[in-house]
Amino acid sequence: MTPDLDLQRHNTFGLPARARFGTTITHAGQLAPLLAEAAAMHLPLRVLGGGSNVVLRPHFEGVIALMGIAGRDIVGTHGDHTLVQIGAGENWHSIVEWTLGQGLPGLENLASIPGTVGAAPIQNIGAYGLELVDRFHSLQAFDATDNSIRSFDRDECEFAYRQSFFKRAPGRFIVLSVTLALPNDWRPNLAYPGLIDIPADADAKTIMDRVVAIRASKLPDWRVTGNAGSFFHNPIVEPEVAQAIAAEFPSSPRYPAADGRIKLSAAWLIERAGFKGHTHGAAGVSPNHALVVVNNGGATQAEITDLAAEIVAGVAARFGVQLVQEPELL
Ligand SMILES: Cc1cc2nc3c(=O)[nH]c(=O)nc-3n(C[C@H](O)[C@H](O)[C@H](O)COP(=O)(O)OP(=O)(O)OC[C@H]3O[C@@H](n4cnc5c(N)ncnc54)[C@H](O)[C@@H]3O)c2cc1C
Repeated sequence: MTPDLDLQRHNTFGLPARARFGTTITHAGQLAPLLAEAAAMHLPLRVLGGGSNVVLRPHFEGVIALMGIAGRDIVGTHGDHTLVQIGAGENWHSIVEWTLGQGLPGLENLASIPGTVGAAPIQNIGAYGLELVDRFHSLQAFDATDNSIRSFDRDECEFAYRQSFFKRAPGRFIVLSVTLALPNDWRPNLAYPGLIDIPADADAKTIMDRVVAIRASKLPDWRVTGNAGSFFHNPIVEPEVAQAIAAEFPSSPRYPAADGRIKLSAAWLIERAGFKGHTHGAAGVSPNHALVVVNNGGATQAEITDLAAEIVAGVAARFGVQLVQEPELL
């Protein structure tokens, strides 16, 4: 283990952060001894992938396991789907490109999402009308409570909008590999705004290229301006709350959600509450995209957290809607 591990280049916000100890995991066999070592020092162990969905504290008094398990294989079929098994440390976007290169479309709408394959199930990543759950078969995870390796099928993962079983038990399960099920009778998913004008007979590569281009035009590049993508979930509210907002703003975005509830646009609420472009120290709300909190250079975790609290309070006061933060404070 490396003592006092520098994590600044391991988080897309680029926040200055260090861990008491850290190491890279390249195979599952390293985990049990590492956990024993951490336990002997009474330190917690947490996994970090690409660090694209975390707000890191300046010091983590514990052990950080950087996920580096590699591997990509076509492992068989399930009904009319081809199964591919991917190591948790593989880069998500590289896998989207690789599957398309193998003649296996299905992930193109999820192109360009930063981070690792192992983290993808944690919040059931989603974009452009598709979620991981739509292409998910199963995963293997290490259970830190008894050092066993368990398989989870789709139902056991309890996927929902930016949610999974694993998100509710942070740190317990370490995802080792993910098996995806890619449809043999693939059809393009072009329902989402921005993709609607693509011809219905387009191939997956055309769709992937469009998604990559739209994302590059909308989202700040985290390599230049640190960020963690969408900072808040789109809130799902009771119909009365949505109606009250619609009475004042008839064209406010509203989408049907489960159980008669309504999904609102967090970006719209934040912009209307006056926070687009707002700054707090070196932290700010992107002037181009109200849902993206950015590090304008030298921001601290405290500045990001204080700005987020200001936004949550402002939106609650203006619209009576409670925003929920997406990246984990780690
Ligand atoms: C510019 C930008 C755009 C984004 N766009 C999207 C988007 O369109 N849709 C979307 O859903 N997300 C988006 N995100 C968020 C992020 O990319 C995803 O959540 C991604 O899956 C996080 O992967 P990661 O490897 O960086 O996870 P990390 O940030 O390293 O970790 C996130 C959480 O998962 C846990 N974790 C990581 N790996 C494992 C593992 N192997 N086993 C168990 N737990 C693990 C960590 O402990 C932490 O709690 C975006 C982020 C950025 C910066």
